[in-house]
Amino acid sequence: MFEGFCSGGIVKRAVAKGLVEVAVHNLRDFAAGKHRQVDDRPYGGDEGMVFKAEPVFAAVESVRASAGTPVVLLSPQGRVFDGRVAEELARHPQIVLICGRYEGVDERVAESLATDEISIGDYVLTGGELAAMVVIDATARFVPEVVGKAASVRHDSFVAGRLDYPHYTRPREFRGMKVPPVLFSGDHAKIEAWRRRKALEKTIRRRPDLIAASGLSPEERTLLEPTPNERKKR
Ligand code: SAM
Repeated sequence: MFEGFCSGGIVKRAVAKGLVEVAVHNLRDFAAGKHRQVDDRPYGGDEGMVFKAEPVFAAVESVRASAGTPVVLLSPQGRVFDGRVAEELARHPQIVLICGRYEGVDERVAESLATDEISIGDYVLTGGELAAMVVIDATARFVPEVVGKAASVRHDSFVAGRLDYPHYTRPREFRGMKVPPVLFSGDHAKIEAWRRRKALEKTIRRRPDLIAASGLSPEERTLLEPTPNERKKR
């Protein structure tokens, strides 16, 4: 699963530039016994299998570079992943992600090995691998130089608690839909103000929770005031 993920796009480039390293470890390599058993039936009886604590502890203790390395158990029961969590994880030189399968992982991993539990949303995936890739991709974007221009991360949705502004490219008109003329004005201050206003309007419409969390700044209130043209139309 990780081969495809690492062989394209931003992650591939970041790895090639030495900005990010993705190391995938097979739990079986850390399991004891002839059969290298990594899972077992749940105590108390139930369907399914549970990852055993010993190989998970052994794997993490072997790959963790220092005691300060965040050890994240991917779990639908964790705190919900968002841009802020990604930014926070990106500050660490290493993060360890534990992917569960089946019914999950022996609870002692959550209790005394993991330093964090992260969910990528309120649904249950078959395994933690997709969740790990989501976390790696979104976190890598905050590693300096991974995304071409730092500015393109700065105005991304959620970075400043707002959605991104609308983007347009050629042609100027497509099936009667026109690109807003301000974008050809060459007036950078005007374009910037238009983008900020559009981003704000979109956030108010689609994600009022983001606005409620921070409130509107005085500058944003000014941005939302009707322009002289809009006043005339009213
Ligand atoms: N029985 C568990 C529960 O209901 O909480 C679900 C286990 S799930 C089938 C198997 C593994 O997929 C989990 O151990 C976890 O690593 C991963 N997983 C599933 N949903 C996830 C989510 N929303 N976010 C992160 N990881 C998830």
